[in-house]
Amino acid sequence: MTNFATKKLYKYLGGIHIHSKYSDGTGDIDAITKAAKKAGLAWIIVTDHNNIDVPEGIINGVYVIKGVEISPPSSNHYLALGVNNIIDYEQEPQRFVEEVREQGGIGFVAHPDESDKRKNKYSPIKWLDKKIIPDGIEIWNWFSVWADNYTDKNIFAQIYSFLFKDRLITKPYTETLSWWDDLNNTSDEVVPAIGGIDVHALKIAKHIFPVKVFPYKSMFKTITNIITLKEKLSDDFKTAKSQILEAIRLGNNLIVNRKITKALPEVTISNSKETVCEGETIELDDFTYIRIKLGKKFEVRLLCNGEVIWENKAKEVEIPLLQRGKFRIEARLNKLGYAYSNPIIVR
Ligand SMILES: [Zn+2]
Ligand SMILES: [Zn+2]
Repeated sequence: MTNFATKKLYKYLGGIHIHSKYSDGTGDIDAITKAAKKAGLAWIIVTDHNNIDVPEGIINGVYVIKGVEISPPSSNHYLALGVNNIIDYEQEPQRFVEEVREQGGIGFVAHPDESDKRKNKYSPIKWLDKKIIPDGIEIWNWFSVWADNYTDKNIFAQIYSFLFKDRLITKPYTETLSWWDDLNNTSDEVVPAIGGIDVHALKIAKHIFPVKVFPYKSMFKTITNIITLKEKLSDDFKTAKSQILEAIRLGNNLIVNRKITKALPEVTISNSKETVCEGETIELDDFTYIRIKLGKKFEVRLLCNGEVIWENKAKEVEIPLLQRGKFRIEARLNKLGYAYSNPIIVR
């Protein structure tokens, strides 16, 4: 289990948006948890399409929480985390949002902005009505970005896309990030974001030479959610489950593509009295600053209420804050996204 304490804070790496044998994934929970463990994940949330039969608990040393990806055939996929019953996908999407809340879960719009310009067999699945207000948004989905950049026009392009799959993973869609910022700009609370893997461990060319593409272990080393807790994760599964879901709900979560570098980023805001992490709130005073610590030098952007207010290359930087608002950071290397923090509120 990865867990490093910083000023009595505990960080736990997790994977969200995973498909198993209960829908169109190829792995069972034994294989999936073993892969997660090897990839350094402490917790995972399995979200099969319209199915919630996957077992929950501490399995092979990994906390497994179940959810469901409410999946109508061609649009409006919604990740329902921490629910116990499936939700009818033939209803209006507004009902998805409401039913997840009624079950005490938390819902995230999945891959809202997949591209219409795809040149392959994977049809885009978008969220059609952005007037519907969800609990949160999956701002980055590994498979969506891959499928947007994949072309199956010839065998060479196909082999390249599978062999060098990580080169196809660019960054979250600008439209998705702006929608997320808009939602945050109209709410007093943090509207949280998550990163999704959307791993299936698909088998291709089944009859000629079966190859498992995107196996669980290597996918679990890509888009990761680093949650911050004030206390250690409990050994009691039920308690740990609510700790994890609460951190996700509050936005105590930093989204990172670990394929870019293994070093993990940290973002905090301090004033003269205290230090807080993503998803938290702090008072503005004369000594308020944000501290961004990355494993290596990245192009870093600091945003306040969705507007870029600072941009530079940095490995570690402290920037004084002179205004109130919701602050979040983005870090990338050329075209490749690396880290996206949930907002911290400065009041
Ligand atoms: Zn989906
Ligand atoms: Zn999915």
